[in-house]
Amino acid sequence: MRALTAFLLPALLCGQVPAWIRQEASKLQPQVVEWRRDFHAHPELSNREVRTGAKVDEILKGFGIETRRIAGHGVVGVLKGALPGPVVALREDMDALPIQEAVDVPWKSTNPGVMHACGHDAHSAMLLGAAKLLAAHQAELKGTVVFLFQPAEEGCLNTRRAALCA
Ligand SMILES: [Zn+2]
Repeated sequence: MRALTAFLLPALLCGQVPAWIRQEASKLQPQVVEWRRDFHAHPELSNREVRTGAKVDEILKGFGIETRRIAGHGVVGVLKGALPGPVVALREDMDALPIQEAVDVPWKSTNPGVMHACGHDAHSAMLLGAAKLLAAHQAELKGTVVFLFQPAEEGCLNTRRAALCA
């Protein structure tokens, strides 16, 4: 039985990814591109990531990952491996910027004046890809992986402390 985190942690730290993970990730690429284009076409500003958060939540649940909502539209997914081990968190951000998209591609922004110009569409899609890959290996997973989908990275998180970062 492979000890997944034993491979994954050093890989994350030193950039060397085992061949079998690269192969499985390659197979996920078309799905990740599809998610990325969907998020790109539906950008949402900070604290307004309603569709994005709901979609992330739904997709994670589809992998059998426990989820809960935090910080407004944020999502936390928890994948508990079958074997004991450390807890590792992978974080990304979901919000877009108040920029009008000027490029005409089939997946261009459908939200006037709002655009994923900072790559958070790709971040969201890539973390979903990682979640799908790791969830498929839950029985071999040593430890727990927490997936953090952070809202309002570009702006100020709409909380009681919002005045502190205005
Ligand atoms: Zn950003």
